[in-house]
Amino acid sequence: MDIQEGYALSEQVHWRDARNGDYAVIGDPIGHSLSPVMHQAAYQTLGLELTYNAYRVPLGEVALACTHFRHLGYKGINVTVPLKEDALAASRAPDEFSRLVGAANTLRLQDMACTNTDGPGFIETLKGLGIDKGAQVLLLGAGGSARGIARALFEAGYKLCIYNRTPERAERMVRELQIEAELCGANPSGASLIVNATSAGLLGGDLPVQWERAEPDAVAYDLVYKPEPTPFLKAASAHGLRTVDGKPLLAAQGALSLEWWLGIPAPRDAMLASLR
Ligand code: NDP
Repeated sequence: MDIQEGYALSEQVHWRDARNGDYAVIGDPIGHSLSPVMHQAAYQTLGLELTYNAYRVPLGEVALACTHFRHLGYKGINVTVPLKEDALAASRAPDEFSRLVGAANTLRLQDMACTNTDGPGFIETLKGLGIDKGAQVLLLGAGGSARGIARALFEAGYKLCIYNRTPERAERMVRELQIEAELCGANPSGASLIVNATSAGLLGGDLPVQWERAEPDAVAYDLVYKPEPTPFLKAASAHGLRTVDGKPLLAAQGALSLEWWLGIPAPRDAMLASLR
């Protein structure tokens, strides 16, 4: 198997130009995706002769693209920004979590079933950070990713405070997810974990976090992993906080997708190492 194959294809290839394969990630844009190299590293570790590619799929074309991928022999598809809601709509058998969250990041083409591994993957990455269940979490954002993480944190027993630039969207999120959460300002006082689930940094915007009020042993966690460090993590470090970027989450959600498709344990260490 050739790891470079996956890389070469990650250069914004449109889904209509896809070639035969086993698994792929779709998004728009998609050229930046690290998923091909991560999944190829997993297959190599497991001794599996599988391929994983990346394709650009414009919004609204997920169902059409999936029919095409199935004809080309693909078995499963990971879905990234901005197609996660589109993927849920294209699915014929969403699981309970993805239906509640309103977004899917993993599709099985044979029966068009889907799941969402972002939320459970996020919880997995909290192991080892010393943030006990019941601790307070300040979650920034109310977009597609924040929804999965909010529901997963609630199910895992954390106390949630949610800040979003557009408060009505946060209010709607809490209602639709059927969770208990306080809507608050970007004040991290009392929070053991401060999570950035916004795209503010990517778009050059600043989040109004009151860092001087953060607990000294709190962890700042950014879903984003570029640039290194992200503006959010740079500000957190400057205030002496521990930081985690989005790579452990990328590896964990990918590992859970692989396990959902193949039914065997994913080599998490190799997957995370391939990102570094
Ligand atoms: P969405 O577009 O669905 O949501 C964007 C969120 O960011 C909204 O809450 C929006 O607030 C907020 N936002 C955008 N610009 C600003 C700004 N200038 N100031 C304050 N808030 C702002 O995106 P997603 O939820 O899908 O993704 C969020 C980020 O997480 C992305 O950067 C994505 O790449 C990353 N991610 C990383 C993963 C990983 O594996 N590491 C997994 C999933 C996501 P408003 O409602 O006011 O517009």
